[in-house]
Amino acid sequence: MRKKSGLLFERAGELIPGGVNSPVRAGNAVGVLPPFITEAKGCLIRDADGNEYIDFVCSWGPMILGHAHPDVIRAVQERLERGTSYGAPTEIEVDMAETIAEMVPSIEMVRMVNSGTEATMSAIRLARGVTGRDKLVKFEGCYHGHADSLLVSAGSGVATLGIPGSPGVPADLARHTISIPFADLESVRRAFRKYGSEIAAVIVEPVAGNMGVVVPDKPFLSGLREITREFDALLIFDEVISGFRVAPGGAQEIYGIVPDLTCLGKIIGGGLPVGAFGGRKDIMSRLAPVGEVYQAGTLSGNPLAMAAGLATLNILKNKDIYKELEEKGNRLFSGLETAARAAGAEIVVNHIGSIGSVFFTSDPVTDFASARASDGERFKKFYARMLDQGVYLAPSPFEAMFLSTAHGEAEIQKTLECAGEAFRSL
Ligand code: PMP
Repeated sequence: MRKKSGLLFERAGELIPGGVNSPVRAGNAVGVLPPFITEAKGCLIRDADGNEYIDFVCSWGPMILGHAHPDVIRAVQERLERGTSYGAPTEIEVDMAETIAEMVPSIEMVRMVNSGTEATMSAIRLARGVTGRDKLVKFEGCYHGHADSLLVSAGSGVATLGIPGSPGVPADLARHTISIPFADLESVRRAFRKYGSEIAAVIVEPVAGNMGVVVPDKPFLSGLREITREFDALLIFDEVISGFRVAPGGAQEIYGIVPDLTCLGKIIGGGLPVGAFGGRKDIMSRLAPVGEVYQAGTLSGNPLAMAAGLATLNILKNKDIYKELEEKGNRLFSGLETAARAAGAEIVVNHIGSIGSVFFTSDPVTDFASARASDGERFKKFYARMLDQGVYLAPSPFEAMFLSTAHGEAEIQKTLECAGEAFRSL
């Protein structure tokens, strides 16, 4: 059924570690060989054997408009004719900066990079440079890319593979990272009482997406805002997933909290490799060449990536899209709960807007410990059953399901029928 994918995976394994260029893709957590993808359109994705799937990975978030959206394709094609990279300033980067600043009001200045990892890594360097402090507070189960300081107790692939940290991260560096249970404000206060004058920043996914989706209460985030202010540390929102996803202005718009710095990625690239970080002008002005904190990139602000991203953001400025996505999200995620109940399967579904996660547990999932307490074996069976029926989910219990504007009623209905069958088979 996936014979060609199997052969490709074998070929890949000879030359690419694990056969993949990003670990979770290999499917180790679900024990299923990954389908090799040849093309995608709208909410459908096709593999090398010609199998078609309803896609809830959406490239791990960027494809909020679905695959190969005509406006995005047209924008890239138009740019393509004019060359692919110049390593010099372009007008389209200014357009992008203006659009980001308009949609995310806490961002007064922004710098484009090439991935979410680069965004968080650079934001942390900037926070350390500006405050003259080294320590960093992060939360267990949050994933902020694979920069050294951020791999401590991380989510996503680090959680999927059960890696507590990573060899290769110097202990001298890791000791500057203080990792605290998600949403545990009292532990944050304790850390600040002890190390307050040494903490450069708190970095958080304001809606967590890398231990599966975990939606915090507002007092946690407003508490972080108060504590960081009191101790002159910076508050960094990593909105690489939530940015332009849960609202045009990200989670900070929903919760009404103004972070000092925000990290972006995924959707702003419209499916091309992009990241960005931005925030208060006085802080961003400390970056080279005006300031002394160094950060750079040969391909940063790449015109093709800017074209794809801008075409995407221009559509997302229409707030009705978020209402529509939320309605679809409610239908899908509450439908999954209903289907599980009917099949006698115990699950918890966490969701906000167009992202959500199914956890095989009966207890609320509010942090990394409760996410990890869910039943990975039942997820594994569920995953395989869904894939065989033509529903493509992220191959890990610690990831989100992503909906796009291209998912229609028919696909949601079909997904719920497949899920019903999968729940019954457990
Ligand atoms: N931050 C968050 C919240 C993410 O979800 C991710 C990737 N999933 C990253 C940072 C890193 O982004 P990238 O994979 O583009 O380096």
